[in-house]
Amino acid sequence: MHATAGPCSRFRLRSLWVLALSLLFLIFNFIMVALPWHWVRTKADLRPLLLGDSVRITGWPPVENVFVVIGPDSPRLVRVDSGSFEDWELPLASRLHTILDVRVTGMPRADGLWSPLWVTHRRALSIVNISTGQPADEAERALALGVYGNDLVSRGVKAPLVDALLGHGEVRAVRPAWGGIANEALVLLAFAAFLASMGSVADLLAARRRRLLEAGICPDCRYHAGRLDRCPECGGWLRYGEG
Ligand SMILES: [Zn+2]
Repeated sequence: MHATAGPCSRFRLRSLWVLALSLLFLIFNFIMVALPWHWVRTKADLRPLLLGDSVRITGWPPVENVFVVIGPDSPRLVRVDSGSFEDWELPLASRLHTILDVRVTGMPRADGLWSPLWVTHRRALSIVNISTGQPADEAERALALGVYGNDLVSRGVKAPLVDALLGHGEVRAVRPAWGGIANEALVLLAFAAFLASMGSVADLLAARRRRLLEAGICPDCRYHAGRLDRCPECGGWLRYGEG
């Protein structure tokens, strides 16, 4: 009897270890990954968590704000942060110039369940005439796009991307978040291991009950009932399952 019970219970013990470890991993992962991930996904910058450098897009139009000054001379581009008084405030005051506010917005957006799986990058372009506060008209827009497009290309942004941004006013790219995908795979694996080893708990309890019955001990109250059919202490049946 004990010869066959040995390897069997060792297997059950191993299953229990798998159960405990997979459960620990799932809890640890939930606290360290899933919860923080769902907290930060509402914030502006999603990159630091799990995304790392795997989703960096090179040669991508930068998020920025520039002015295109259109006057008697050829239109020119002025950086808002580095431009001087003469560059854009003076032309604006002179009213001889049209100043177009060119903004490129963008924010990575990540989607996933337990952890991020995909990151969508988006760049959107808006051109507004500062004097009127209205979107630039056709002619102004064409001028602004020409000046800004040349500037982007000269700064190393890929020409097809520039064309796409200027043409549609928006570019989009969806990239897999490998860190998140790897984590999701581990979570699924741990969950599968947890489910597969869950039966071992019931097995272990049944085996323990059988051992107690064989030793003449009531499994419910631990009374030494010997070979009786019912436990004189708690009234539980002791012989069922043996027939
Ligand atoms: Zn009993």
